[in-house]
Amino acid sequence: MCGIFGYVGDRQATPLLLEGLQRLEYRGYDSAGIATVDDRRRLDVRKATGKLANLIGVVQQAPLAGTVGIGHTRWATHGEPNDTNAHPHLGGSGKVVVVHNGIVENYQELKDNLIARGHRFDSATDSEVIPHLIEDLLDQGKPFPEAVRLAALQLKGAHAIAGLHADTPNAIVALRIGNAGGVVVGHGPGECYVSSDLPALVSLTPTVTSLAPGQMAVVRANGCDISTLSGERVPLQKQTMASNPIVAAKGGYRHFMLKEIMEQPEVAMSALRGRLAFDPGSVTLGEVPFTPDVIRSIARVVLLGMGTSLHATQLGARFIERLARLPASAENAAEFRYRDPVVDKDTLVVAITQSGETADTLEALNEARRHGALTLAICNVPGSQVTRIAHGTMLMHAGPEIGVASTKAFTNSLVCLLLLAGHLGATRGHLRDEAVRDLVDTIARMPGLMGQALEMNATAFGPLAAEYARYRRFLFIGRGLLEPIAREGALKFKEVSYIHAEGMAAAELKHGPIALVDPETPVVAIALKDALYEKMVGNIHAVRARKGPVLAIATVGDEIIAEHANHVLWVPAAPPLLAPMVATIPLQLFAYHTAVYCGSDVDQPRNLAKSVTVE
Ligand code: GLU
Repeated sequence: MCGIFGYVGDRQATPLLLEGLQRLEYRGYDSAGIATVDDRRRLDVRKATGKLANLIGVVQQAPLAGTVGIGHTRWATHGEPNDTNAHPHLGGSGKVVVVHNGIVENYQELKDNLIARGHRFDSATDSEVIPHLIEDLLDQGKPFPEAVRLAALQLKGAHAIAGLHADTPNAIVALRIGNAGGVVVGHGPGECYVSSDLPALVSLTPTVTSLAPGQMAVVRANGCDISTLSGERVPLQKQTMASNPIVAAKGGYRHFMLKEIMEQPEVAMSALRGRLAFDPGSVTLGEVPFTPDVIRSIARVVLLGMGTSLHATQLGARFIERLARLPASAENAAEFRYRDPVVDKDTLVVAITQSGETADTLEALNEARRHGALTLAICNVPGSQVTRIAHGTMLMHAGPEIGVASTKAFTNSLVCLLLLAGHLGATRGHLRDEAVRDLVDTIARMPGLMGQALEMNATAFGPLAAEYARYRRFLFIGRGLLEPIAREGALKFKEVSYIHAEGMAAAELKHGPIALVDPETPVVAIALKDALYEKMVGNIHAVRARKGPVLAIATVGDEIIAEHANHVLWVPAAPPLLAPMVATIPLQLFAYHTAVYCGSDVDQPRNLAKSVTVE
């Protein structure tokens, strides 16, 4: 969840650490801290609660010297966000310092044990046990890397750790246990970096080594040694990243979230490139590694995701049922994992995760593999952990997504799922040639329709935000393919505006939630001209009869809705399969503009982090 960054070389570490943390801040921003060791072997730490800017202020007041250092941006799990709980954490002697990502599941037992042996703790974090365990082993005469390794073996859970030792200067020890975020070593000229993810390294070096779970690295200015946590040497493998740092910049937009919303038509095109052919119409998914016979043997499909990706799975299941006539279910990955799921070799399990590092989803996918399922990942980060677990990976091709509230990765997941559904349907013979051609023609219209949706309502959002920001709770309703979009609309709205919102199937309203409807509870109703349109109009009447304000998402030119709703956001008429992507856009923009109006931190909403690498 958190961001870890380390530097060792001949330059001053502090500015590089702060710069690295800046690029990782989206991962956690409860507090930040850095530690360095100077050439007189003095270890020094600076920390500050809140955003990185606070730490930068602290460091300006009290600079740190040294050409080796580690830093951390925290997403608190144990202990409130304050200076004491901020990482890096020192052991009692002040010679060992550690930054940690993950949860030490057995920390209480370890801590009790250490306290019984005379250790004293400052923080309320689980992480602080780690430097204390290391010190214990140093006291027994173990060299620092060995002490870190043996300490790591005592931790339960999934972790990424980086540590420094004042008496072992010019080396960072970093390791990874399980799926709590990545550890990537960057190789520069006469210097090395350690980072939780690749994007933070793009402007520093293209040459990287990613640690697999269960590996550790001793990183020095002139290179690194990799070994497993059981102590065997691993040959060093360097990869070259192909990525352009410019695409990660805001490009003139006030927020990444807005930039990423506006990019959707273009990145949808990237997701289609090379996968759709027009003459004759076909969907080609080279990355799905199953033969036609295997695809024909699939008895059902289970889709796994969390948060926004869970909403994508709900759409994916509907796409697959429609286009491939295969039973398909959408599952919350964290729940799936722990209920001894019934899957076997005839089940295709599809995991959706933007970062490819979502711990809940990775563990659920591992569970599916243990049961012998066929597995596929849909993710946005090449080389991420999920790509190593799944049999095959469809990349979203959405480009780096920096805004913590996911937007373009959601719509590109839907594009991938639609293509996958088409591929399964065609391979299984449910979609004949003509149906495939129609599907291809339909899908090809998507970027254009999304572009139109972005242009409509341009002047509407400011006044709408001003009108609606004063309410404290919202209901979002939709039907059919638009039900998951109502859920996603509500999630987007609450995560960036901090106003409570609940999304649901419109028919569900009358079974309970309608009790909430009153003049202070607006209902956002997705009421497009589709097969369920009449029913949605009925639902809108039911809300208006109870004086609930209605904001409708409607097909351009629909006068009936205009008459019944208090306000309308228009979308272009779209084929049913594309309506979800098109209807998503005004909901994202409504959430964005309301959040800006409320003054919330749109790109880094409170309490959230981008890749959720703890369970
Ligand atoms: N569990 C640790 C803490 O609460 C690390 C959290 C993180 O990954 O940022 O401090």
